[in-house]
Amino acid sequence: MSLPKSPRAAANAVSLVLTQVLGRDRFPVDVEAVARELSQQWCPASPITKIDGHKGLGGFEGALQQHPRGKYWRIKFNADRRPSRARFTIAHEFGHYALHRDLRTSFECSESDVSGQTEIDIEREADAFASTLLMPLDDLRRQVDGQRFDFELVKHCADRYGVSLTAAARQCAEVSDQRVVVAFARDGAVTESWASKRAFRSGAFLRSKRQVVEVPAASLAHHSRCDGIGASACLDASAWFPNEPDGTRLTEHTLVSHDHDSTMLLLVLPKLDPTLTEPEDPEDDLLESTSMRFERSGQRPA
Ligand SMILES: [Zn+2]
Repeated sequence: MSLPKSPRAAANAVSLVLTQVLGRDRFPVDVEAVARELSQQWCPASPITKIDGHKGLGGFEGALQQHPRGKYWRIKFNADRRPSRARFTIAHEFGHYALHRDLRTSFECSESDVSGQTEIDIEREADAFASTLLMPLDDLRRQVDGQRFDFELVKHCADRYGVSLTAAARQCAEVSDQRVVVAFARDGAVTESWASKRAFRSGAFLRSKRQVVEVPAASLAHHSRCDGIGASACLDASAWFPNEPDGTRLTEHTLVSHDHDSTMLLLVLPKLDPTLTEPEDPEDDLLESTSMRFERSGQRPA
């Protein structure tokens, strides 16, 4: 089986095989078994044979390394992380194997590489592969469509797919028809943020990498630092996004971390005018169109 080059399409191809073998209700993905089994099928001369956790690695999240004589590959991961984080790291390293093993014999990945905060191409690709493998878009859409976008939905998806709240929030945001920005705030400033594709295209994003973005005084996060539980509020979108038209309202959901160190935010903006057609990303629908073919021809995977 030769994989498509793009990370999402490659993960979709793997997902199709898994759905054919295991059926639709197959979550969370057993990523270690998948990495061992499929690498053996793709490249019997040099499969992934070892996947092991190590403690005391600091900011190092994981690595993919080939045996010096090329006989096999091994994945190492940081065993001090939560299981959901370690699973994502293994999926990320499996992404390097699937997409990049002809480029290098060793990949060493830091926290920023594995959490979508990097601008290095192969790290972003391994990240996109991991997200799409663990949270396939067709199944995710069935969870998200028609639901209110809040922490209850994000927690449901994090549990279903065995991933962190952050990873689930970002992938849920991508398939939602609303515009969503996921952010973290600490000491009155935004420390990290991701805008969904729809939010970004509409100009609703925070430049938290390039400048200090203060938490606006009108926002819920400004007041909820000691709350300890999730809260929601409706406010003028312009408080967070000055370019939003007058009268646009956004819903802000906040969740204070267990150690009260930071607040996670979901900023949910209304969808764009439905009469405007959005440019389509052909990779998004590879899996869906293939699943639909199965359904139409009566060959739905068992
Ligand atoms: Zn990496």
